Amino acid sequence: MTAIPDITLNNGQRIPQLGFGVFLVEPDDTVAAVSAALQAGYRHIDTAEMYGNEKEVGEAISRSGLDRSEVYITSKLSNDAHRPDDARRAFDESLKALGVDYLDLFLIHWPLPTRYDGDYVSTWKALEEIYRDGRARSIGVSNFQPRHLRRLHGESEIIPAVDQIEVNPYLTQDELRSFCAEHQIAVEAWSPLGRGGVLGDPTIAAIARRAAKTPAQVVLRWHLERGDIVFPKSVTPERIQENIDIFDFGLSADEVEAISALNRDERTGPDPDTFDGT
Ligand code: NAD
Repeated sequence: MTAIPDITLNNGQRIPQLGFGVFLVEPDDTVAAVSAALQAGYRHIDTAEMYGNEKEVGEAISRSGLDRSEVYITSKLSNDAHRPDDARRAFDESLKALGVDYLDLFLIHWPLPTRYDGDYVSTWKALEEIYRDGRARSIGVSNFQPRHLRRLHGESEIIPAVDQIEVNPYLTQDELRSFCAEHQIAVEAWSPLGRGGVLGDPTIAAIARRAAKTPAQVVLRWHLERGDIVFPKSVTPERIQENIDIFDFGLSADEVEAISALNRDERTGPDPDTFDGT
């Protein structure tokens, strides 16, 4: 297997471009799934307070025998903890649950523009303090639209290192990705496989046949060729392995374009402009 490439973030920190996501992985299944991922060679785990499995992620990492510095760990702030004091406390609780003394990346999970009087700026300032303390090596946001990012630019000091947003072949997010590129914000594509919903697409299936790869591998490769960071989720060891076996082939520019042309602006998750986190 060729090594997983790193992406350099706007603060000089490096993040593995492929990781492993654990949304909707039951706590009872998490140690096994994360252990299988680490065994297969993943070195980047994406969790969140709201996934309810930080403790089990930490346990799998600790059992792996890998050094803390060898695994890139991301977690995210609960929607219920946006007030600055709550955010500081929630960060400490995430560290404790994971059993670590720093996070590689800590994100505001959702902007929640209809809650907390629309104030995600004071939440961001709490993350800036955590970053300055060195307890999060990088900080970023998730599900932020250009208008939310513009407001942070105007009212705070640190530019988010990443924006973690929903992206898949049916939701290519061209405008938001261009905005992020212009502002040196790396894009992390959540639900990169559209939760499995894009894998039966005939265009993707035809490219997979030509490449002698599976549709999931082709879709993940498409994300990497566009420069996004991805962390597909699976609890099945064969699929966990399959999703990392994507470094021995490439897609032509035409194939990347053909997949991008499948865009339908179709979300599988909530709309960040209206989602209130409940
Ligand atoms: P995904 O797009 O990774 O799809 C996962 C599903 O696809 C699996 O449950 C399985 O059914 C299927 N699958 C996986 N590998 C496959 C393969 N090789 N062949 C066939 N089917 C396969 O969806 P996801 O889990 O929602 O997203 C990935 C990660 O993104 C999450 O685990 C989480 O870390 C992150 N995420 C973040 C947010 C956010 O708001 N920031 C929201 C959702 C997900």
